[in-house]
Amino acid sequence: MAEVTGKLIDLRSDTVTRPSRDMRAAMAAAEVGDDVYGDDPTVNRLQARAAELFGHEAALFAPSGTQTNLIALLTHCQRGDEYIVGQEAHTYKYEAGGGAVLGSIQPQPIAHQADGSLALADIERAIKPDDFHFARSRLLALENTLGGRVLAPVYTEAATRLAHDRGLATHLDGARICNAAVKLGISLRDAVTGFDSVSVCLSKGLGAPVGSVLCGSREFVKQALRWRKMLGGGMRQAGILAAAGLYALEHNIPRLAEDHENAARLARGLSDIAQIKVATPETNMVFADIPAGQCSLLEDTLGRRGILAQVDPHMRIVLHLDISSADVDRTIAAFKESFAA
Ligand SMILES: *Cc1c(COP(=O)(O)O)cnc(C)c1O
Repeated sequence: MAEVTGKLIDLRSDTVTRPSRDMRAAMAAAEVGDDVYGDDPTVNRLQARAAELFGHEAALFAPSGTQTNLIALLTHCQRGDEYIVGQEAHTYKYEAGGGAVLGSIQPQPIAHQADGSLALADIERAIKPDDFHFARSRLLALENTLGGRVLAPVYTEAATRLAHDRGLATHLDGARICNAAVKLGISLRDAVTGFDSVSVCLSKGLGAPVGSVLCGSREFVKQALRWRKMLGGGMRQAGILAAAGLYALEHNIPRLAEDHENAARLARGLSDIAQIKVATPETNMVFADIPAGQCSLLEDTLGRRGILAQVDPHMRIVLHLDISSADVDRTIAAFKESFAA
């Protein structure tokens, strides 16, 4: 993407955020060491802080959420085990089948309910008896938020209790768990109750350029470290990156509420357009149904106004820390212009 002087409004994802000046200053000033030797003080601080915030004994920093999720699958499951997961879950659908390819772990996907949850009865039915015909059901993997929707703590507590009662471990893909916690008005710790491991992305709404953390017990993280090495995720003076993650955890969580307000503002604006059907957003994502015949005109109009979006009939628009309420108003105006044409 060219550097634009007139501000580019990039609504494709919350991964497009650029590190702020203060975040870059924290990166430049980071104390570093060789993290493969465990010597990087900034990585160690980030891991300790993440463990504390999410109420786990330990945490591990890795380059991406795909890698932290894969490490979690590989740590919880052995070859021939299976994990129960939603059809739309990132770990199942958007990570190139890594668990199956690299771990010989079989996914057992099940359909989501309208609120994004997996029905307890469906989870129960998917857990296979101990019989040599079957893969061994080993893990329940949930995602929060999923498609911008928040899973309620009463639900995640019930689902993880069910899994534990049946001898399964539990993993949360919490790429956007901070959005969920802010929306629910609860602590991060309370938002992840019941999960044996939690993956959190620092590089989405939290605004860091790179990185995810995987939280779990000391024993879990010790094994996870071996998998991270095997996957090529051992980095050297990674404190430069970890400093951004620490900055993100210390400064950019409460402000997610602004992204949620901007999502609501955008949804209200778009709902004035008769041809568009827009759902009420729960967090930082707006989903809008656009008539297929209008998509290319809309894309052109947005493009001319410096607005980047993935325009399709079921359109996802993502708010983040580089989008202001004025940008939202410009976006609404561009939509209205396109639909008035
Ligand atoms: C983005 C994302 C991930 C991990 O993505 P990376 O791009 O590999 O960091 C995992 N789960 C969910 C739900 C995500 O949105």
